[in-house]
This record gives sequence, C-alpha cells and structure tokens, in this order.
Amino acid sequence: MSTSETEKIKCLIIGSGPAGYTAAIYAARANLKPVVYTGMQPGGQLTITTEIENFPGYPQGVSGPQMMDDLQKQAERFKTDIRFGSIASVDLDTQPHVVVSDDGRRMEAETVIIATGASANMLKLPSVEKFQGAGVSACATCDGFFYRGKVVAIVGGGDTACEDASYLSGLCKKVYMIVRRNELRASKAMQARVKQAPNIEILWETQTKEVLGDKTVNAVCLTTKTGEQTIPIDGFFVAIGHHPNSELFSKWIDTDENGYIRTIPGTSRTNVDGVFACGDVQDPVYRQAITAAASGCRAAVDAERYLN
Ligand code: NDP
Repeated sequence: MSTSETEKIKCLIIGSGPAGYTAAIYAARANLKPVVYTGMQPGGQLTITTEIENFPGYPQGVSGPQMMDDLQKQAERFKTDIRFGSIASVDLDTQPHVVVSDDGRRMEAETVIIATGASANMLKLPSVEKFQGAGVSACATCDGFFYRGKVVAIVGGGDTACEDASYLSGLCKKVYMIVRRNELRASKAMQARVKQAPNIEILWETQTKEVLGDKTVNAVCLTTKTGEQTIPIDGFFVAIGHHPNSELFSKWIDTDENGYIRTIPGTSRTNVDGVFACGDVQDPVYRQAITAAASGCRAAVDAERYLN
C-alpha cells in the first residue's frame, strides 16, 4: 500500500508490552485482525528487566525479554499484524479514528486500544542531562555491564531501584543506593535482597545535588542531613519511577492529574467511543506485568463487544 492511501483497520493496538500483546492475542482470536504498532521499545519495559519471578505459571521465573518474545510469538501465531514503528499522530474527533504512523501511513481504525505504557523518570539536574549515556543511565540491565568491577550509585527506593541495585551488586565492586527518605518504598522481598547484599550501601535521607565529571562521571555530590558529601563513582543510575505515555492522546482522552488515562470503572473504555486503554498508561496503582496483561484482555473483549 502506498503511504497516500488510507488503510482500514478494525482494531489498532498501540504498544507492545504485556497489555498490548495480550490485547492482540484476544483480538486476533476474536477475528478482529489486529494491527500492533510496537512503539520505540518493542516489548516495552519488561525487555529491560532481568528475572520475573511473580508471573503465575513460571515456577522457575522467566527473563523479561524471553516473556516478551513469547508473547510476540503467541500474537503472531494468531496472525496479528505486528509493525515495528510508532504512531506519530491521532485524530479521535473522527469516527473511525484517523491515525498516522511515523512512516506516514494513514489509517482509519474502528477501535483503538491504547497500551503505550510508562517511561522512566529522570532527575531534573543539568549534570544528569549532560552525562546521559556517558556515565548516567536509567537502565541497569542495559548498561550495568559497562561497570563491571567498578563503583556505581543508584537513586531511588522502589522495587525498580532495589532490583537494579541487586543486579548491579553482582557486577560491580560497590553499589551506593541514594534514598531520599529513611525507608524504602519497595516490597519486603526486594528490600531483603538489597539488605543481604554485602556490597550495597544505602545512603538514607540523601539527595543528589550534582553528578560530577569531565568527559564521563567520576563522582556524585550529595546533600545529606548533616551537609554535603562527595563520593567517587564510575556510573550513576536513576530508578525513580515512571510517567504514563499518554501525551499523544491528551487532547481527547481524560487523564488524572499525573497523566494516567481514566477508564470507565469496571471497563477499559475511555471517554471517547471506540477507544480503550490498558496496561501501565491507565494504571497508577498496580503496574505489574500480570495486571497489564489482564487489562489487555479486557480491552480486547470490550473492543469486540463495541464492534458487535
Ligand atoms: P516507584 O514509584 O515505586 O518508586 C520510585 C522511588 O523513587 C521511590 O523510592 C521514590 O521515593 C523515589 N523517587 C521519586 N522521585 C525521586 C527524586 N526526585 N529523587 C529521589 N528519589 C525519588 O517506582 P518503581 O519504578 O520502583 O516501581 C514502579 C512499579 O513497578 C511499582 O508498582 C513496583 O512495585 C513495580 N515493580 C515491580 C517489580 C517486581 O515486582 N519485580 C520490579 C520493578 C517494579 P519516595 O518513596 O520517597 O517517594
């Protein structure tokens, strides 16, 4: 098809995390001929996770990339049309909804399932921005390898920070956890893992003032209860939560004050007819692979009922 023609789609799924692929599996089996646009990070956030130990059905755990690979294959088995690209714009005033991909393909979708997930937050410091990719990273599993035998710091006290810190502790000589309160937000199991690691040191009630360095990071300046402290490090990781990827739809779709899409309680329906939301983009509370997958199922079922 040339990019000037308009393609008619019954069910367009935007996003390829557990929510998007589960929606695809259900929609494909219901003969909605779903088209999935994977987005910039095919497979979503789980592709940068290490081990998933709490997804039912995997008694030995499963790696994030493996699970996403399996979900993709399962969606393909039922003839989902998976496209490795992003959606550039949408117009949800029209019915069917007009959607244009980043390679200029114009589509009219009878139903749209938003499964765009969430992205990592960054510390808003000039030095953090400056050293991004040169000693500052938001992905321990992607970049931890570069710091084997070295000293790193990680900011955050949630499950992601704890998981990343314990991953880094297996590679690095020393891991500092920079935690702004005097307690961790992470689950008890994750907290125990961090506290057991002999080479993780938690710096309580501490904030990052600046990351220091020349071409690459060599230290971090911290603000503590008693004043400032500078510690030498080789790498600086950030794990301070996520924000929902809902900007593309914000002109039409109701969100809460943090940008999470509001769905009609008990359903995946949004305030726009024929548009459904699932996964982390609409879930400020649970944000788990299993809850995302379940909400993807609901979105596909709701889309099928809407079309019928
Ligand atoms: P969370 O929102 O749970 O935690 C964010 C952490 O970053 C908190 O400790 C927070 O501190 C801290 N923080 C936020 N902003 C700043 C800042 N500006 N400076 C310093 N620290 C800051 O995010 P996560 O990404 O850790 O987790 C997201 C969700 O994913 C959670 O529901 C979590 O349970 C889940 N998850 C589950 C995993 C698993 O089960 N294996 C693995 C990873 C994530 P404070 O506490 O003071 O607000």
